[in-house]
Amino acid sequence: MKYQVLLYYYYVDIEDPEAFASEHLELCRSMDLKGRILVAEEGINGTVSGTVEDTEKYMAYMKEHPLFEGITFKIDEEEGHAFKKMHVRPRPELVNLSLEDDINPRELTGEYVAPADFLEQMQDEDTIVLDARNTYEYDVGHFRGAIRPEVETFRDLPDWVRENRDMLEGKRILTYCTGGIRCEKFSGWLKREGFEDVGQLHGGIVTYGKDPVAKGQNWDGMMYVFDERLTVPVNQVEHNIVGRDHFDGTPCERYINCANPDCNDQILASEENEAKHLGGCSLECSKHSRNRYIIENDLSPEYVEAQIKKLEEEAYAQ
Ligand SMILES: [Zn+2]
Repeated sequence: MKYQVLLYYYYVDIEDPEAFASEHLELCRSMDLKGRILVAEEGINGTVSGTVEDTEKYMAYMKEHPLFEGITFKIDEEEGHAFKKMHVRPRPELVNLSLEDDINPRELTGEYVAPADFLEQMQDEDTIVLDARNTYEYDVGHFRGAIRPEVETFRDLPDWVRENRDMLEGKRILTYCTGGIRCEKFSGWLKREGFEDVGQLHGGIVTYGKDPVAKGQNWDGMMYVFDERLTVPVNQVEHNIVGRDHFDGTPCERYINCANPDCNDQILASEENEAKHLGGCSLECSKHSRNRYIIENDLSPEYVEAQIKKLEEEAYAQ
């Protein structure tokens, strides 16, 4: 059976996000969808998977809903579900920039730049391309030459911009993110901050990779996604690997979660290095008493002990 993964958002006033969320959860369950949807007073943002029939039914329902007139869906074909469960959660906001006076993208946002124009403009000398995602998303793939703001999370971006104002002043700034929702707000905030020439990639990287003209060009690596696929391809013309193995720095595009359940950090690692480090991102995590890698692979205490000893010796040698 064929499946589809949908990605969408819509900025609109939703009066009672909690009531809406619980009703919407029932609806999604009745359609056998799985995924994660956020509902806030400022709108809806979701990604769900299901059979072609079920996802088509869901899209038809949403498009007919009086609140979501003109909603667009990004669609990926898949072999199965991309999620294990169905969640619909009420939230104070869809996108958090830690602003006291939040941006309403329906009132203020950057110019929408179509994929083909984005490809052309990003190669202009006076243009700065700013990645509006988290660093762990950038690290496995990004636009060639794009700036990687050194921030823990998206909500720290405003502080980073204020600290790096000199670099951005007087330039054309192009922002991009996965599906476009983060840029709607971030590019609006940039304009309010006084940057005049601000554009955002319309439809996000997802749309860019499917565009018949842009064909994902000038994108290096893979695109990080927030479902079980973890990464998907973007560039249809060439593929360069930019991800680097957490342990030895060799080219790598394989994400794992650290096996220490208290850490759970997402890192890039080859199968060999994962095995060598018992799934842990650090010696401390490898040795953790509830290490999932050891439990799931049913490793004997003797083997684990010998492996830890080897890692300790290596760490000592460094
Ligand atoms: Zn760890």
